[in-house]
Amino acid sequence: MRKAVVNGAGGFIGSHLARRLKNEGFWVRGVDLKRPEFSETAADEFLVGDLRDQAVAAQAVDGMDDVYQLAADMGGAGYIFTGEHDAVVMHNSATINLNTLYAGRKAGVKRFFYSSSACIYPEYNQKDPQNPVCSEDSAYPAAPDSEYGWEKLFSERLYLAFSRNYGMEVHVARFHNIFGPEGTWQGGREKAPAAICRKVAETPDGGTIEIWGDGEQTRSFLYVDECVEGVRRLMESDFAGPVNVGSDEMVTINGLAGMAMRAAGKKLLLQHIPGPLGVRGRNSDNRLIREKLGWAPSASLAEGLEKTYRWVAEQVKADQQQRAALTGR
Ligand code: NAD
Repeated sequence: MRKAVVNGAGGFIGSHLARRLKNEGFWVRGVDLKRPEFSETAADEFLVGDLRDQAVAAQAVDGMDDVYQLAADMGGAGYIFTGEHDAVVMHNSATINLNTLYAGRKAGVKRFFYSSSACIYPEYNQKDPQNPVCSEDSAYPAAPDSEYGWEKLFSERLYLAFSRNYGMEVHVARFHNIFGPEGTWQGGREKAPAAICRKVAETPDGGTIEIWGDGEQTRSFLYVDECVEGVRRLMESDFAGPVNVGSDEMVTINGLAGMAMRAAGKKLLLQHIPGPLGVRGRNSDNRLIREKLGWAPSASLAEGLEKTYRWVAEQVKADQQQRAALTGR
């Protein structure tokens, strides 16, 4: 039986990936600072530990054939674009990656997956919201717009360097805005789809929700099941990447809000307020993944957003009920 460890298995994508691996028949170890917040882990074994600690990183990879490295100090624009968390983000995530590779090499791990990000792409190619350039070969000359992106770029190079120098098999994906049920939906680290679903769920029909910026910035969003499918296909291929794993259905943030309203059956007004924004436009370029894996994600955004809205709305309702019970109202 193939054994796999998912670092970051207490997080959003990691918990979905652990479930997928388990369903495929892997023996799975999950490692994270915390257990998954919204459901029981599917992993056979779950190690609560800090991967900045070399001993924990060694325990994580011990006896494993495959390592999926998704642990990172991470959040949405409200966390990574304000500048306040730059030093911890870079230090924490780089330490996790350095420890994982060092320990994995020592333990004789066969395959590594590393989750990089679309945030590595240069800001200068993403100024026109209708024509952002995010082909894999456009990463250099490098100019990510956040320190989070710089750390990802460093770490993807680190994985590829270990592969070149030590003959280790590595696969690197650049995720583009992954969303879906069981993702962070409140607290400051949530991303646009979950944040917008939350605002729509919390606001009565006819009310107003706030949108950061003019809402004309563009993005694409990939449903988590498709992301996990891409990860598995990449890991089973002989292609190292880096390769985009994202959707190429680009929308404006205003458009995304409209979709969430349709999912909720509500009509709301948008109030545009200043906020951390990131690049002006971004979309996944899926030519390389199609060429190398003969596959690219295809589910529509509306479909995934509907499922996500339903899940976020349930969380909002449960949260409101809990608060009402606490205050006796
Ligand atoms: P997440 O924050 O839900 O998961 C990351 C997990 O890493 C968290 O559970 C966190 O507790 C854990 N972690 C952080 N520091 C740790 C430490 N020192 N030791 C052990 N565990 C630690 O994020 P996610 O959305 O599931 O993202 C997974 C990976 O994919 C991350 O590397 C992220 O940078 C990358 N990525 C995600 C997206 C996205 O849209 N979600 C986009 C691009 C890249």
